Order: sequence, then structure tokens, then C-alpha cells
Amino acid sequence: MNKTNNRVFNFSAGPSMLPLEVMEEIAAELTDYNGCGQSVMEMSHRSAEFEKIIGDAEKNLREIMNIPDNYKVIFVQGGGTLQFAMVPLNLLRKSKKADYIVTGAWAKKAVEEAKKFGDIKIVASSEAENFTFIPQITKEDFRTDADYVHITLNNTIYGTKFPYIPETGDIPLVADMSSCILSEEIDVTKFGLIYAGAQKNIGPAGVTIVIIREDLLGFTSNETPTYLDYKIHADNGSMYNTPPCFAVYAAGEIFKKIKETGGVRALEKINKEKAKKLYTYIDQSSLYSCPVTVKDRSLMNVVFITGDKDLDKKFTAESKAEGLINLSGHRSIGGMRASIYNAMPMEGVEKLVEFMKKFEAENK
Ligand code: PMP
Repeated sequence: MNKTNNRVFNFSAGPSMLPLEVMEEIAAELTDYNGCGQSVMEMSHRSAEFEKIIGDAEKNLREIMNIPDNYKVIFVQGGGTLQFAMVPLNLLRKSKKADYIVTGAWAKKAVEEAKKFGDIKIVASSEAENFTFIPQITKEDFRTDADYVHITLNNTIYGTKFPYIPETGDIPLVADMSSCILSEEIDVTKFGLIYAGAQKNIGPAGVTIVIIREDLLGFTSNETPTYLDYKIHADNGSMYNTPPCFAVYAAGEIFKKIKETGGVRALEKINKEKAKKLYTYIDQSSLYSCPVTVKDRSLMNVVFITGDKDLDKKFTAESKAEGLINLSGHRSIGGMRASIYNAMPMEGVEKLVEFMKKFEAENK
């Protein structure tokens, strides 16, 4: 049986598609990793084999993201959601003030969590316009004594992304990159801290990547639970306690693959081509439209509507029957959303556009 034959194109916002070649390699060594007679799932995290797995994963991530030596890379659990709390618990270190830009539902959740720990100010929000654009911010908009500024670089639900990196001067910039990490080249030095759950562009759910500038470590209060202190993880090479071993291993295999296939630059090129194909079709269509301001459109999550809720439902049902699955918009906004992360091949986007054309012709 050709394993590729029965695979669907999965447009889920996450967990989402992973590169088939990598999953096949993982499957081939699932019960006997590298001739050591055991699965990574069964392996002690203190074994030499696993030390190498996590070490290589970090090394390859550093290489593909060009992460400078004065940043620590840590692998933790708890998803983006736990980062909403860990960021303020670790970074509210002087004035206990932080400024947030609210560009969607995840940014709002980050604000609500941070409010438990300090004086949080929303310096800009696009909520009044249903999060269809990214506010333009300048350095003067931030409180000069803010301990950090937080942004959500890509907004998974609303299909927007920052077309620029806000200038914050000396204030560390923190970015939730859960739904765009490794999709485009970024300059890590512009950020004090970057976090991302793995389940979109990196690997299976269960591991979260944190990249933190060293000078931001070591400011937690005595009441902070041990696990929530970045320094504990940084000082212990993400091995203070048992890490999510299998998820780290799978992520590491994906980092290796990215390195061998042209790096993030190559992914960025194809991601731009995939997104352009979809937006170009939507913009000329008389049935579909994309509510997002052109310059702020996401490369990863393409949101579109027909303007008729019943037709949207029909669209997702019929597309599913064609093997194009998970095209419904987030339950909070409806419509459609095609998440086209790194592992979605151009072929999937082409199939989607073909289907959209057929559906448009049949439902004029
Ligand atoms: N931030 C963003 C931008 C997200 O898209 C998500 C999840 N889709 C989260 C945070 C929450 O992540 P998790 O489910 O890993 O806690």
C-alpha cells in the first residue's frame, strides 16, 4: 500500500500536518531507535541517547533560526497557554508594568493571565474592527518604565500577522510565535523572548519552545513555582524534570529536515507562494472574500467567507468529502480558514483552489 494514497490535506489550525517523510522516518525507528533496541518513548531522559537527541534538537534549532549565544533555548510543557503566565511571572521584574498589543483572542488571553501578576496596559487593540488589521505602533506608545512589551506575531484565528516588528528601544519585546515560528526568517535579536507551542510548525503537541535572552533570567519571586522559572530550565538544559521526550525528538527530526532542505529561507519562499496563490484567487472571486487588510494578512492562516453562513457550512462539508479537511473557521468567528503551515504542500493549496473554483461555479 502506498502510504501517501490515503492521506488527506489537513488545513487544521493545529495540531496540523507534519512532513510525511519525517513521520515515516520516525515510524521506521519507532520500536528500535538507532539500533539501541528501544523506542524513544521508552528511553530514560538521562540516557546518553536522549542527551544527544535533545542536544541535537537545540543545536539544529539554533542553526535554522540563527539564535545568538546570549540566548537560551528551552523546551517546556504547558503550551502557549502556560507561557501567558510564565512570561509575566519571570519578566515583571522592576516596575511590574507590561504593555500588550491586542490583535486577537490569544493576545486577549495573554493579557487576562498577565493581569493576575502586574499592571498591564493595552497600548493598542484592533478589536473594534474585529481584529482585521494590525495597529501601527511606535516607541512613544509604550510606558518608558514597562518591564516588557508583548505581541502575538501571527493571529491564528483572525488570519493576521504583524508586517513589522515594533520598535521598543530598551524594553524587551516578547512575541507569541505559536502559529508562525519557522515560517519566515526573523531576526531573533529584536526580541527579548520568543515562545511557541510545537503543534503547528514544529511537531506534535506537548513541547513548547522558549528562546530567552540571558539577561532576563533570574528575576522570579520566592513564591514562583519551580517549574515556572525559566532559569531552572535554562540552568538544567531543559532536564530539570522529565521533558516531553518523544515530542522533543520529533521536533528535532523536523529541525534537521529543515536544515537539510534549504532552511527557513526556503520555507519562507514556498510559504509566500502558497499564500499568494490562495489570496489572489480569493481577491478576484465574486463568491469569496477575505476580511483582512491586505498588508496585514497571515501567511499561515488564510481566513475567508462567502457572506452566507449556510453556504459556508456547505463549503466545509463538501470540501471534506474531497479530502480537504478542517476548513471551518474558528468556532468564535465562523466562515472558513485554511491553515497552510510549513508541512502543507503546494499541491494541497492547488487542490483547495480547484475545489473553490468548482464550488463557486456551482453556487453562483
Ligand atoms: N497562541 C497562539 C497564537 C495560538 O494559536 C494558540 C493555540 N492555537 C495558543 C497561543 C495557545 O496554545 P496552546 O494550545 O498550546 O496552549
